[in-house]
Amino acid sequence: MLQQLREVLVAKGLDGLWVAKPENIRYLTGFTTPKDGKLLVMLDSELLYTDSRYTVQATEESRVPFEIARFDEVYEHAKQFTTGKKIGFEADAVLYKQFQELAALAATLEPVDGLIEAFRAAKVASEVAGIRQAAQIADAALEALRPKLQAGVRERDFALELEFEMRKRGADSAAFEIIVASGERSAMPHGTASSRVMQNGDLVTIDWGAALNGYHSDCTRAYPIGDVPRQLREMYNAVLEANLLAISHVKAGVGCKELDTIARDYLTKQGFEKEFAHSLGHGVGLAVHEAPSLSQRAKDTDVLEVGNIVTIEPGVYLEGVGGVRIEDLLVVTATGCEILTSLPKPRL
Ligand code: ZN
Ligand code: ZN
Repeated sequence: MLQQLREVLVAKGLDGLWVAKPENIRYLTGFTTPKDGKLLVMLDSELLYTDSRYTVQATEESRVPFEIARFDEVYEHAKQFTTGKKIGFEADAVLYKQFQELAALAATLEPVDGLIEAFRAAKVASEVAGIRQAAQIADAALEALRPKLQAGVRERDFALELEFEMRKRGADSAAFEIIVASGERSAMPHGTASSRVMQNGDLVTIDWGAALNGYHSDCTRAYPIGDVPRQLREMYNAVLEANLLAISHVKAGVGCKELDTIARDYLTKQGFEKEFAHSLGHGVGLAVHEAPSLSQRAKDTDVLEVGNIVTIEPGVYLEGVGGVRIEDLLVVTATGCEILTSLPKPRL
């Protein structure tokens, strides 16, 4: 991967790249505490910087040479490689203070955007296997807890138990703060679990995932408690159809914007134009949200590639009434996709 990255650097007229984003450092080196690391990629060498707390770990994990240096020594050491050179830095990962520190590299600094992320978007077999396993853990955890999803249970308690069930099954943690949104709260697309007590007639949105070895899964289901009003059931069924329709169009070569449009047009026809207030999906990997983005903001030239792992998650949200989102995680193949999230989503 470093070799391909170097070809991109050459094409951009860069002599090197200063990598600060933890996911990118982990991707290129294998070092599992990348938040305490920095990576310098030059055209003929690369060096991981971390501090003395990680000497043993870096020895065991890093696929690239590493240097143990105190935080304040890093730039001074790197200067021998970078002085007078043109060095890229990740525009979306470097804070202003860190940018000021980069001056010590004595290089011409050039902001870059999405260089390594473009490589991360297409997963290799081992990454697919890891994310598949994370998705299976998340599914099994929810399945085990389903009997407890009932009137009288606090959203927060259900979320806590769901995380516990995932960790018991081997997850390192939840992939993100679990969303359990019941009743009118389900109209909030990102309503993290509150102290609301679930009631009969609720349609409960649960958005959860497992983190495993740096990778993540992401899934959403909506479950009825008792008799759910017809308006909510209609919303649910429309979202489900949009989810199935979009998934049926997934394969390598399909436009990222086009997929979003397919789901959006369907929901618009069902009367939910404004109510589908976010994009259709996103890539998932070392970050929960990464490239590619399935949205109206995608470029016309952005197409799905073999090995992309993306979510398909249409949703409809009606303030004061409730909302529904149904999200699946899938691997793009040449002829279609493999769906990694397996929990049933029956019509209501
Ligand atoms: Zn999600
Ligand atoms: Zn998602």
